[in-house]
Amino acid sequence: MSVKQLNEKKLDKYQEVLLKEREETQRIINAINETQKRGAKEGNGDLSAYSQHQADLGSDTDESERRVYILEKELKNIKMINAALKRIYNKTYGICETCGDYISANRLTIVPYAKYCIKCKEEEEQRKRRKK
Ligand SMILES: [Zn+2]
Repeated sequence: MSVKQLNEKKLDKYQEVLLKEREETQRIINAINETQKRGAKEGNGDLSAYSQHQADLGSDTDESERRVYILEKELKNIKMINAALKRIYNKTYGICETCGDYISANRLTIVPYAKYCIKCKEEEEQRKRRKK
């Protein structure tokens, strides 16, 4: 039985992408934490560090609520990025956790921390929709 795995070169490439992504995400989290610390005294602080990254969340949302929202989202991202890096290290990265098939390069470019191939992901979404 042959076990599917991406070759070293591809794994290296995705590792680089993920590390960059993690750095960027960490930077945003730090910026928000800093702003939260100062925020209590000085009002809303500087949003420029992540306003480009997080383009449009609607202008009527309260700034501090918005920060919490972004922070939660980025913390979740970091977790997924770390999990993906772990998969790189044990060479299971790029393989769908449900069906064991390759996740397409296209999908990994858009979602570098994807755990499932597009087919399984869609089936999962459909299951969720039916539950509602
Ligand atoms: Zn799959």
